[in-house]
Amino acid sequence: MRRVVTFHYTLRDPSGRVLDTSAGGEPIIYLEGGGQIIDGLDTRLRAAVAGAKLRVQVPAAEAYGAHDAAQVQKVKRAALPVGGELKVGEQFKAGEDRYAPVVTVVAIDGDDVTLDANHPLAGVDLTFEVEVVAARAATAEELQHGHPHGADGAGHCH
Ligand code: ZN
Repeated sequence: MRRVVTFHYTLRDPSGRVLDTSAGGEPIIYLEGGGQIIDGLDTRLRAAVAGAKLRVQVPAAEAYGAHDAAQVQKVKRAALPVGGELKVGEQFKAGEDRYAPVVTVVAIDGDDVTLDANHPLAGVDLTFEVEVVAARAATAEELQHGHPHGADGAGHCH
C-alpha cells in the first residue's frame, strides 16, 4: 500500500546548521514513491506513523548527489551575465535560457571568477528532523496521477 504522508521538517547540514525548515509554514505532503521529496527521505519514512518524531540521516549520494569537480569552472568576470559587484556565495542563472543552471560564486581573484554549477547541497550529508502530521492510504486517483490531492485526498490537481 502506498501512502500519502504529511510532515514538518527541519533540515540540517553535518555541522548542525539549519538549511531549511517548514516550521511556521505549511507542512509538506507527498505520495510515497511519487518523486515529490528526495528518494533517500521517502524510503526512510516508509514505516513512520502519524505523530512520529524522528531524525533521518540521508547521505549525499541519496540526496543531491556527489559534488562533481568538473562542474566548477573559472571564467572571466566580463563574460558573466550579471552586473554590479560580485560576492562569494552569490548565486545567479548562468544564461538566458530557462534551463540554464544556477551557479554559485565560490572564489573571486581579480578578473577570474570561479563558479560552481553543482546543486548547492551536492556532496552534503543531510539530517532531517521530521514530525509526521498525518499518513493515510493513497486514493486510486492519486496513484493514477502520481501525486497527492490534498490532506484528505478530495482536492483537485491543477
Ligand atoms: Zn492529480
